[in-house]
Amino acid sequence: MKSPKGISRRQFVSGVLSSAAIACVPKSVFGASVIPAAEALQERQRPRFGAYRIPILSEPFPMENVRLLEGPFLDATKTNLDFMRSLPEDRLVHNFRVNAGIPSSAEPLGGWEDPKVELRGHYTGHYLSACALAYASTGDEELKSRGDAIVADLAKCQAKSPNGYLSAFPETFFDRLRDGLGVWAPFYTIHKIMAGHLDMYTYCHNEQALATAQGIARWAGHWAGGLSDGEMERALQTEFGGMNESLLNLAAITGNGGYFFTAGRFEKMWFLKPLAGHRDELKGLHVNTHIPQVIGAARRYELTGDPFYHEVASYFWDQIIEERSYATGGTSDGERWLSDAGDMSKDLSLWSEECCCGYNMLKLTRHLHQWTADPRYMDYYERTLFNSRLGTQHPQNGFKMYYLPLETGYWKFFNSRFNSFWCCTGTGSEEFSKFNDTIYFRNGDDAYVNLFIASEARWPEKGLTLRQETRFPNQEGTSIIVKAAHPVDAAINIRIPEWVAEGGSVSLNGHPLGIFSNPSSYLRINRTWADGDRLDVKLPMKLHSQPLLGDPTRQASLYGPIVLAARLGQDGLTEQMQYDADKGTTELAPPRAKPEGTMEADVQTADEVRTAAWIEPVKGQPLTFQTVGQKAATTLIPLNSVFGERYGVYWKINRPNFRMG
Ligand SMILES: [Zn+2]
Repeated sequence: MKSPKGISRRQFVSGVLSSAAIACVPKSVFGASVIPAAEALQERQRPRFGAYRIPILSEPFPMENVRLLEGPFLDATKTNLDFMRSLPEDRLVHNFRVNAGIPSSAEPLGGWEDPKVELRGHYTGHYLSACALAYASTGDEELKSRGDAIVADLAKCQAKSPNGYLSAFPETFFDRLRDGLGVWAPFYTIHKIMAGHLDMYTYCHNEQALATAQGIARWAGHWAGGLSDGEMERALQTEFGGMNESLLNLAAITGNGGYFFTAGRFEKMWFLKPLAGHRDELKGLHVNTHIPQVIGAARRYELTGDPFYHEVASYFWDQIIEERSYATGGTSDGERWLSDAGDMSKDLSLWSEECCCGYNMLKLTRHLHQWTADPRYMDYYERTLFNSRLGTQHPQNGFKMYYLPLETGYWKFFNSRFNSFWCCTGTGSEEFSKFNDTIYFRNGDDAYVNLFIASEARWPEKGLTLRQETRFPNQEGTSIIVKAAHPVDAAINIRIPEWVAEGGSVSLNGHPLGIFSNPSSYLRINRTWADGDRLDVKLPMKLHSQPLLGDPTRQASLYGPIVLAARLGQDGLTEQMQYDADKGTTELAPPRAKPEGTMEADVQTADEVRTAAWIEPVKGQPLTFQTVGQKAATTLIPLNSVFGERYGVYWKINRPNFRMG
């Protein structure tokens, strides 16, 4: 959505609005003549839904069976839920009511939810998803009731439409989309609303939400059915979120092949085909427009077993992780892949990386793990969760970040409560409601402990509860305590992460087992478990560094999976510069921001680079480090813990003449 560096989304939107003013020619897209025979045609080839067509090697524990225990993730969840509770429901539905001709006296929200902004309504969709996820992960009845109330309100708005259309902006936006006349991203917004309703159905069993989602899907099917393939291809040049994924989910839930067919209309083949052929043609593309399309491809593979979509998803994931990601696990600079594969040397900026991209990559990763039970997917999940997601919410007020700047000397910048509502406010509200969704997976008699987060998982099919006690990463390891009414045969697979240092161990009820496993594998412990059995796992961490792809003279330092940030002070940094101004306009990053501070490391050998030898732990302060033998004395803490000060992630390495990289 935001194009080149230096142009803010706000400026871009004003441009679109002015061209749209000329282009607004009201024309209904739902004339009687445009209903296609497509759905009937597809009926003959209707796939069977309800079951995966591919082998599933691991699946998440249901969220309602996993509860977080005290720790940074539970703290962050509570802060997010407080933020969500601070948003009045009537303000969230105001634009929908107005659009449907239903009186509303609520004060409109600002930012991207302003009544004049073309994306209005998108956050309400995210909000429904976040309420549903919050209910599934914490049992929060208040947020469930809020979600239910919004679903009921929106159903009244939908009932005013003759064709299932539900939005906070007029249907004429889609005429502009069809005619190529410029409009922000109407299907992107429709996707959020549809996904929100599907989540309210899936996690809160709200049948009305399913009916509404089906109404939207039927409308989308008729709209797309009225367009030729060429017109549809042009429409898909405008960001359309995860339309294909939501339609496939709806097809799977209902068994309706019409939705499956419509999902196919939302596939951008010129993007998918090169990926299926293992060609990286991603340079220049807008990142968060495209990751959701790959999630849709992954979903199609699950429902059909078509290997084309398998190749799309697995090749894309490999390519992003190996050739287009920072040490944080994030991807995108200025919202795009600006460079050739493997070269991110010019990609450190105020606009690297966009938070939504991390959110969507994690979503894709969950699919790939289910097909493979391959621990490297969870190595990536952990890296991204701890470094690109956890620290992007302000710990005091629950406000979210848009970009996580990776150029040295910037700071974290957050939305305002009522006048921002960026895409990343939306995905952040969802992410911070669902931290319990990936900690534990299972397959038959096997449980997988993927993430080291204090939590408890009920496994009623086995009559087991797994309680994980850890202060990770402050503690270098974790403990699993088994609760069981009767002895139970099961295997517990503990992820031995790719970063583990020498000296890892596991003991059972205080006795060392004398077994361990390689980095990036699962250690499988299969036995008859009794109540009170306890596994203590030591996972030693060490300092190491990771180069910026394409420039080995820029190195991020890490401790285990945790990216360290240099604390560069608060010079010239005011409170005001850390928040989007609460005045109805919206900035995505601090305006006219100047970075200050440097990070340079003098090293003698390549080995010193690999081991980040220019820093050392500060005694008695976990996860705190300081430079050693350098011109400037610098303190480092985890990137996810830096707030209210300038920071830097990538060191400039000054070295004698030895080869690096
Ligand atoms: Zn975003």
